[in-house]
Amino acid sequence: MDQNTTASRSCPVCGSTDYVFGGRKRVEPEPGQEAALETRYAYRACGHEWRVRWPK
Ligand SMILES: [Zn+2]
Repeated sequence: MDQNTTASRSCPVCGSTDYVFGGRKRVEPEPGQEAALETRYAYRACGHEWRVRWPK
């Protein structure tokens, strides 16, 4: 079963689920694309970070 929720992500590097919100920014749209909001998260344990894009 694939539960693709942002609430329970674990780090691919260290397996930690202890992450912090790292900020949000607006992504300028490229031609033919819609604007989006990009949210950044980072794990406390190892500093690994990832970004999630939300369509506006
Ligand atoms: Zn990690």
